[in-house]
Amino acid sequence: MRSHYCGDLRASHQGETVTLSGWVHRRRDHGGVIFIDLRDRAGLVQVVFDPQSEAAFAQADRLRSEYVVTVTGQVRLREENLRNPRMLTGDIEVLGTEITLHNTADTPPFELDEYSQAGEEVRLKYRYMDLRRPEMLKGFQFRSKLTSAIRRYLDDNGFLDVETPILTKATPEGARDYLVPSRTYPGSFFALPQSPQLFKQLLMVAGFDRYYQIAKCFRDEDLRADRQPEFTQIDIEASFVDEKDIMGIAEAMVRGVFKELLDVDLGDFPSMPYAEAMRRFGSDKPDLRNPLELVDIADLLANVEFKVFSGPANAPKGRVAALKVPGGVTLSRKDIDDYTKYVSIYGAKGLAYIKVNDIDAGEEGLQSPILKFLTPEAIEGIISRTGATTGDLIFFGADKASIVNEALGALRVRLGHDLELLTCDWAPLWVVDFPMFERDEEGRLAAIHHPFTQPACSVEEVKANPETALSRAYDMVLNGTELGGGSIRIHDRAMQAAIFELLGISAEEAEEKFGFLLNALKYGAPPHGGLAFGLDRMVMLMMGRDSIRDVIAFPKTQTASCPMTHAPAEVSAAQLRELALGIRKPEA
Ligand code: ASP
Repeated sequence: MRSHYCGDLRASHQGETVTLSGWVHRRRDHGGVIFIDLRDRAGLVQVVFDPQSEAAFAQADRLRSEYVVTVTGQVRLREENLRNPRMLTGDIEVLGTEITLHNTADTPPFELDEYSQAGEEVRLKYRYMDLRRPEMLKGFQFRSKLTSAIRRYLDDNGFLDVETPILTKATPEGARDYLVPSRTYPGSFFALPQSPQLFKQLLMVAGFDRYYQIAKCFRDEDLRADRQPEFTQIDIEASFVDEKDIMGIAEAMVRGVFKELLDVDLGDFPSMPYAEAMRRFGSDKPDLRNPLELVDIADLLANVEFKVFSGPANAPKGRVAALKVPGGVTLSRKDIDDYTKYVSIYGAKGLAYIKVNDIDAGEEGLQSPILKFLTPEAIEGIISRTGATTGDLIFFGADKASIVNEALGALRVRLGHDLELLTCDWAPLWVVDFPMFERDEEGRLAAIHHPFTQPACSVEEVKANPETALSRAYDMVLNGTELGGGSIRIHDRAMQAAIFELLGISAEEAEEKFGFLLNALKYGAPPHGGLAFGLDRMVMLMMGRDSIRDVIAFPKTQTASCPMTHAPAEVSAAQLRELALGIRKPEA
């Protein structure tokens, strides 16, 4: 139907007769002449109708926003003073002589230019309208280029693109499963994959050697942060590799796509042990653009009378840490109150601070509600260890280590943004040497990565000291976001059985849930490992967007529903009967 895209027309097309198809973006009536901004995937162009083309003019007069048309006309240069340098097609316009109206449109639920005033519900309900906005389209054009660059890289490096089942058994990645009832086996359920983890491992047992998949994953989580119940991973696995091999492949891929798509050189990624990341940044995904660091001071405060500090300083799982903020004396009482409220979200009971107004004036030069509780030696120790000087402020965290890490870690990130402290645009790193396990609230061991991760020690050692055992897992972190993660896997049946046992999974349960894996490990499983990247998150970061919902065409809301299709929805009694299901709704 079309000869050109609207957005592609330039002065060089002057004199050509063109046929354009798209949507009426705007219509203006200027004393006897009608201007239509016509929009398609490539952009906007101005089409002018004058009364000389009588039929077209009359039709143009009836056009409204978002009507769908095909227009034929001649490209002409705009008068010098009417050119629009902000529009790529701003040097020209099309003198329209013919219009075909394909479809009308109701008044849009929100102006495409003023979408931001529409709430997210409305934008998702009319997602096809929201997606008409050029910024949205840009995100998907980028996403498509990115996946094609990634495929090219992995194809060139001998990786085989293999699809794995969506209707499957539970694959534990730490979330709840989405279940699908089976009609042919009443009372039985498929689970949607939380990741292709076990299947990719089985492909290694099959000898496929190098696998990848751009795979949908499903996790039923409380969607507090920026998460989606279904999301996309770039899933990778290879055989006869160690961590260096896999990290090398993954790093080269990420470096390559950054160079190709953004012309950014990420350089070599540093790598940092988990313990160091927690100690210095209170986080296992530190944003290294941010220069602030936590400093341990428990030893300086173990003997002060102030229980708020000495308690955690002496507790085995406690931590007392300081966070120096250069130039922080300018923070007002209200700022500090706001930050105190902020850290309370992470469980901190307060946020003590010391302002260093004049380092040369001794204690006189310090300002803080807690000075009176501290000994001069403690104060001196804090000042010297943090290296604080005139103009700086020191924040304190004292509690269980997990709370101090979360609270000061989050405060560090927030201060970095509020005070504009970030030192560069991109800071990638690898976090390595993760512990195998953590204790959950009930005191049981839980896998930090997943139960198929190889420990960095023998079966005997991991059994003897599970809490201190390290794993062969690695995470790639970029700007404080986990971009991807993976591990070298267990390929030995005895080790896998031992890990299940440590996780409190009985032999029967292991057999019932993962019998197929344990079985496969008996038939010549090669050493193997891999990782997976969150594609949505990668696009979001590379595009500088705030939410992954902006780079997913049809995302769900924060409460895991779709305002457009009204999924999830009730089903008919007949369907339920067929599935041998009855519904018992929770009482209100
Ligand atoms: N399957 C893991 C995940 O989804 C990634 C991996 O270990 O490859 O987090």
